[in-house]
Amino acid sequence: MDYQSLLNDVVSDVAAYRGQGKVASYIPTLAQADPQKFGIALVLKDGTAVTAGDAEESFSIQSISYVFAVAQALHHLKGSLWNHVGREPSGLPVGSIVQLELEKGRPRNPLTSGGAIVVCDQLMTTCGAAAAGDEMLEFLRDRSGDPSVAVDDNLAMSESRAGAFNRSLANFIAAFGNLHNPVEEVLSLYYRNCSIAMSCSQLARAALFLAFDGVDPATGDTITTESRSRRINALMMTCGHYDSSGDFAFRVGLPGKSSVSGAILAVIPGTGTVCVWSPGLNAAGMSLVGMAALETLIDRTGWSVFV
Ligand code: GLU
Repeated sequence: MDYQSLLNDVVSDVAAYRGQGKVASYIPTLAQADPQKFGIALVLKDGTAVTAGDAEESFSIQSISYVFAVAQALHHLKGSLWNHVGREPSGLPVGSIVQLELEKGRPRNPLTSGGAIVVCDQLMTTCGAAAAGDEMLEFLRDRSGDPSVAVDDNLAMSESRAGAFNRSLANFIAAFGNLHNPVEEVLSLYYRNCSIAMSCSQLARAALFLAFDGVDPATGDTITTESRSRRINALMMTCGHYDSSGDFAFRVGLPGKSSVSGAILAVIPGTGTVCVWSPGLNAAGMSLVGMAALETLIDRTGWSVFV
């Protein structure tokens, strides 16, 4: 298949949607993003990236970091992670507090904000805050093959200042005894992970091990076990897109994770990974253009796991 023409076609197919989405405004720094931007990167088994549009431009990975944090937590905590967080889709917006009250401070899954906050707390208890944050950054540098990947500190600060919702979630979880470190320290690790700046090609490259049973096929490095890789993909499929995970399965049919910065990472088992980015969001909080692009890509390739 001529992947370059495929991506070029996708870019022209979705051109009409560019600028239609609404950029997230609750984080001041994110509100400045340009909704006209659109990038797509496809990384194949040998690690090569095929790209189109703004695929090399950096954005904050936001909740896509939750996926890598789960891999990190499963490595350190193994199955005991599930004593603190569930693995059911929530069917609610990412930062919803409603379910947390009913379910006594145990977040539905690690791909909600509350769940990711609990994952950070568990990592802090096990490794220490600084080590957990450094390990995440090193991991993404190694996996993307780019040592210059860094945290956008201004963004992390901007998010913390605007962080009343996440602060509420964290305090609520703490009130139920499911947070074991000081709220502000847990949030600072959480914001640090969310504010790591990467491009579509770096993100797709970093996640390649998830398409190959936990092994990075280009380097041969074992990143996680086959069973953990499979389960991370299962979480992405069922819980990766706020209350639109069903719609994503229906329209795209791949394990994936959306973020508020307008990125969507998707895993094509046995083939590779794809990352799209366009800051304008649809009503469900997913990249509007990114979603259209992935749908077009899957229509043309038949890469859905449901074929
Ligand atoms: N850092 C963002 C927040 O906590 C992540 C949300 C997202 O990407 O969905 O609000």
